[in-house]
Amino acid sequence: MERTLSIIKPDAVAKGVIGKILDRFESNGLKIAATRKMQLSRADAEAFYAAHSERSFFNDLVDFMVSGPVVVSVLEGENAMKINRDLMGATNPKEAEAGTIRADFAENIDANAVHGSDSLESAAIEIAFFFSQREIS
Ligand code: ATP
Ligand code: MG
Repeated sequence: MERTLSIIKPDAVAKGVIGKILDRFESNGLKIAATRKMQLSRADAEAFYAAHSERSFFNDLVDFMVSGPVVVSVLEGENAMKINRDLMGATNPKEAEAGTIRADFAENIDANAVHGSDSLESAAIEIAFFFSQREIS
């Protein structure tokens, strides 16, 4: 059994597709072990995406992630990390396969609807960033 972190980003929350995206997870065998709607602070977003701090798009990424509320969730199931990444589709929605969350709900590479942990190591760090043990079940 694996756990991974999902974020429904500000563009998708503003569009009113929280329920539709959570349904993709549940319909594909992932359990929602924890979930919360919240507004990230600048410090939150900078720390969360610290791995990208040297990239040209870092400031735009942080600006976008604090532009409105997000929904953070822990998804649980067999192969949860990979299944979530497959459901999300490519980082650039224009390259995302039909039927993926980004193909269906995202506009462009800056506003791309969802985040998902990209390894089990980052999943553990990202889950601990947002949730305490007793919030996850
Ligand atoms: P995320 O980490 O949000 O799940 P990802 O793992 O598919 O997305 P990363 O390479 O980790 O992609 O990039 C993090 C975020 O930075 C992307 O979701 C995207 O919004 C932004 N980003 C990545 N590459 C670019 C780029 N070349 N130009 C603009 N923004 C980018
Ligand atoms: Mg990533």
